[in-house]
Amino acid sequence: MTILTGGSAIDVHTHIYPERYVALLRARESVPRIATRGGMERILILPGEDADGSTAAGRPIGSEYWDCERKLAFMDRHGIAVSLVSPANPWLDFCSVSEAGPIATLINESMEEFAAGSGGRIYGMGLLPRDPALAAAELARIAALPHLRGATIGSTGAGQGLDDPTMGTVWAAAERTGQMIFVHPHYGVGNDHMRGYGHGMALALGFPFETTTAITRLILSGAFDRFPGLKIMVAHAGGVLPYLAGRLDACVAGDASVCLKQRPSEYLRMMYFDAISYQVPTLQLLISLVGAERIMFGTDHPFFPPAVANAELDATEWHSPAAHRRILAAVGEETASAILRGNAAATFGLTLPER
Ligand code: URA
Ligand code: ZN
Repeated sequence: MTILTGGSAIDVHTHIYPERYVALLRARESVPRIATRGGMERILILPGEDADGSTAAGRPIGSEYWDCERKLAFMDRHGIAVSLVSPANPWLDFCSVSEAGPIATLINESMEEFAAGSGGRIYGMGLLPRDPALAAAELARIAALPHLRGATIGSTGAGQGLDDPTMGTVWAAAERTGQMIFVHPHYGVGNDHMRGYGHGMALALGFPFETTTAITRLILSGAFDRFPGLKIMVAHAGGVLPYLAGRLDACVAGDASVCLKQRPSEYLRMMYFDAISYQVPTLQLLISLVGAERIMFGTDHPFFPPAVANAELDATEWHSPAAHRRILAAVGEETASAILRGNAAATFGLTLPER
């Protein structure tokens, strides 16, 4: 019963846009940007969302994305004791190299302030400028901020993918400082195949395919052989990589361009995953491949549940934290309880409020 309703969950995949960042998006004239449509603000976030003929018009955005009281109210409503909030996509990917360094420092200070003002309920992740040397310096700053735990990055890293040799500077800094790197999608993969079905199909398939290719490239580059202490957390239960891991092993076996100490699928066990799987068999597969201790509860709030529910589909119900908990409950009390709370507390060294 506590898995379904208990007030002690830790949410490791939950977002905010600090107000400074919102101002940046409002000032922009091309995607990503915040625009007023029909008297309401919308975030046009995915590539091409404001192109002529696009059926996607982003999503509504309001203070649930930046107001600490609203985040706390969401947590109270869904029995979440502690949240580890990360800046949502697309981070600073659209900034020039010269802008991104100082903006990252300011946004990370905002993340620290947001968490520090939450009465012990919220910790934060930082974001990184794309330039690897600047990112490494920013990671050292993040490590010194008491309420921050690691940083989030997009699937393209410095622009050329997570396997780009220049990313070694970032992985070395993450390993040295012990900071978790949360890899999150933003661009989608195969977007041409998603046309005509609004924002939804790109989100459902393009996002996890993107995570899958990005993490696969990271594995195949040998990053985990070179940086065995690297801590990577993968969004959305690993995309479709857990499902395809056996096929990946089979297809690259004997391939001269892949030179690894272990089979590719073995590296999944060195990573961390959120439990945002949307269905019991997916979560069971992930547990069987990586071990339950590598998996942590997440909600993807405020992207889910959608701010404006579609009454006919009852979207709030099937995307809600309660639905994630029902999926968790199916894997057994002890495992579910570790995923709901214990793993995150240990992995991120979180001090929990008294219950
Ligand atoms: N979840 C996110 O974190 N970002 C999106 O753009 C959509 C869903
Ligand atoms: Zn997310």
